[in-house]
Amino acid sequence: PETARLVASRVLDVPDFPQPGVLFKDLMPLFADGKVFREVVDGIVAYHGRDGFDVVVGIEARGFVVAAAVAYAAGVGVVPVRKAGKLPRVAHSISYALEYGEATLEVHEDAFTAGHRALVVDDVLATGGTAEATLDLVERAGGTVTGFTVLLELGFLGGRERLAPRSVHALLTV
Ligand code: IMP
Repeated sequence: PETARLVASRVLDVPDFPQPGVLFKDLMPLFADGKVFREVVDGIVAYHGRDGFDVVVGIEARGFVVAAAVAYAAGVGVVPVRKAGKLPRVAHSISYALEYGEATLEVHEDAFTAGHRALVVDDVLATGGTAEATLDLVERAGGTVTGFTVLLELGFLGGRERLAPRSVHALLTV
C-alpha cells in the first residue's frame, strides 16, 4: 500500500552502525519530511481507528517521535517508556537481554488508568527484545495493550515470531 511505499522512500541504509557488520536503517529522512510524516502518522491512526486506543506508548528515543504525533492526531495522551534511571518518580522496571549485556526499560507506576487501551509504537522492529519487554512492562503497570505498530519491520530477525501470539502491525516489512 501507499504507506509502505512512503516508508521505503524515506529510509536510508547505514552500513556498520552502531558496530561493524550491522546495516542500520535510518528513518530520520521520514521524520524530516513533513508531508510523508503526516501521511504515515495518519495511516497508523486509520489502521487502529481514531477511537481504537486511549493512550499511546512510545519507546525511547525514536519511538517518542512517532508516539507524540500519533497521540496528537488521535487526541489522546502519551506515555514514555524510558531507559533506566531517567524517570523522576516510582517506576516499574524490566530488564532484557541484548546481544552483548542487558538493557532496562521503565515506566511510571501510575502511567496507566485502569481499562485504558494502550497502543505501543516504535520506529523499527528488529529481534523483538525491546518490544517484548515494553509490552510486558505496560501490562505490569496496569495498561491493556491493544496494538503494537512499527514503521519498519526487519522480518529476517524474527521479531514478529518472538512476539506471537501478540500481533504486530508494520507499515513496511523488509
Ligand atoms: P530489537 O529489540 O532488536 O527489536 O531492536 C529494536 C529497537 O532497537 C528499537 O527501539 C529500534 O529503535 C532499535 N533498532 C534496532 N535496529 C535498528 C535499525 O536498524 N534502525 C533503527 N533502530 C533500530
